[in-house]
Amino acid sequence: MQFNNTWYHELAGTYTALKPTPLEGGRLLYHNAPLAAEMALDASLFAGDGHGVWYGEDLLPGMQPLAQVYSGHQFGVWAGQLGDGRGILLGEQQLPGGDKLDWHLKGAGLTPYSRMGDGRAVIRSTVREFLASEAMHHLGIPTTRALSIAISDEPVRRETTERGAMLMRIAQSHLRFGHFEHFFYSGQPEKVQQLADYAIHHHWPELASQADRYLLWFSDIVKRTARLIALWQSLGFAHGVMNTDNMSILGLTMDYGPYGFLDDYQPDFICNHSDYQGRYAFNNQPTIGLWNLNRLAHALSGLLTTEQLKQGLGEYEPELMRLWGERMRARLGLLTADEQDNAILSDLLALMAQERSDYTRTFRLLSNTQQQESRSALRDEFIDREAFDGWYQRYRQRLLQEERTDEERQRVMKAANPAVVLRNYLAQQVIEEAERGETALLQRLHQALQHPYSDNPAWEEFPRRPPDWGKTLEVSCSS
Ligand code: AMP
Ligand code: MG
Repeated sequence: MQFNNTWYHELAGTYTALKPTPLEGGRLLYHNAPLAAEMALDASLFAGDGHGVWYGEDLLPGMQPLAQVYSGHQFGVWAGQLGDGRGILLGEQQLPGGDKLDWHLKGAGLTPYSRMGDGRAVIRSTVREFLASEAMHHLGIPTTRALSIAISDEPVRRETTERGAMLMRIAQSHLRFGHFEHFFYSGQPEKVQQLADYAIHHHWPELASQADRYLLWFSDIVKRTARLIALWQSLGFAHGVMNTDNMSILGLTMDYGPYGFLDDYQPDFICNHSDYQGRYAFNNQPTIGLWNLNRLAHALSGLLTTEQLKQGLGEYEPELMRLWGERMRARLGLLTADEQDNAILSDLLALMAQERSDYTRTFRLLSNTQQQESRSALRDEFIDREAFDGWYQRYRQRLLQEERTDEERQRVMKAANPAVVLRNYLAQQVIEEAERGETALLQRLHQALQHPYSDNPAWEEFPRRPPDWGKTLEVSCSS
């Protein structure tokens, strides 16, 4: 395992070099063994209480830790300088093929960018980020990853006193929209260009020699963002804090806070209890994605003309609609196109919204549809059975046009309709267990989240509807 630190060496003036502050009584609680194997990490790092790198006590040879500076728009308003207030980029692991992976320790202590914060993360937020990034990755949604959870005895004050924890976050890069905004609004256009050149050199090397590389690069960021949000919308993920400082240039889901997967299908679902206006409601995410890209475009106005920026931004909606449409078709098992398809989908969604159907479970049960069989287990999930019967009749009629066997269609649908998503109440149970220093449920849920599209009796409770208490858990930013 070898560390390089291109950010440290190539981007002077965009960070402060500093070490993590270790947690009192820090110890490894859990690690992501499959990811560790992919990263070719030595098993000894995870033995016993774990290497000190997991809780800020030690570094691995070659690491050069630093906190990055960035800014951003929060809830639609320019927030000025933010930066890594509690996360430290320890170093970049050099991979055999030439790629690199950031090791970013979240909860690593005070930095010059901590503002009013304490630089810490708690067990609750760390477990939530670990589970969410694993769930997203295995659902097929681009995301940062989580390698380890460390816990401690260090008291950390939130609404109540909790305990400090750290997450080792892994990503190809932590470059955010907010990095570009920071240097644009602080009047350092040469730094904006330097960051763009750095991004292209390391992450879009195929564009490096192109004359119109900035345009091609920006267009690709637009399309990646569009695809990311198409996947969030089709799978029912609400991010909760889509501030521009939480938007990845690589199109990864990042900075998991008060996120939520839909339980009931409620299009205007607000997962963040501090979001009083519903700016980041589930059905606003596509619009907010474009709003955020407009902020990025503005920050890149020294590199691209207004015409070019408009051209790039113009790719957003078609790309989002293309992928969302493709995904929703797969969810319905409609592999050919017909003019009634939009109505079939929107009528189902309207019915689900009216009934507050469970989003994930409804589509999973729909996957069992047989064209010649009018009965469906799904019927029992609806109160207005007549409305369901009417829709189902039309749907089965439409399936006849597909000229595909039930088996073929069910296979496609089950690969698009997960059985297991990270329901909030499941995360809550894992948190309570982790607070006791235990990991049995965490292990089982982590297993299940790695196979979200398969039915497995070993975790038959995870696909069920949540209990009523599990739907009303409050999640806010203060984690
Ligand atoms: P977030 O909403 O978690 O993306 O954080 C927004 C900004 O607040 C970032 O600059 C974070 O680094 C900073 N921040 C959040 N929590 C803390 C904390 N406990 N201590 C210091 N900075 C924090
Ligand atoms: Mg953030």
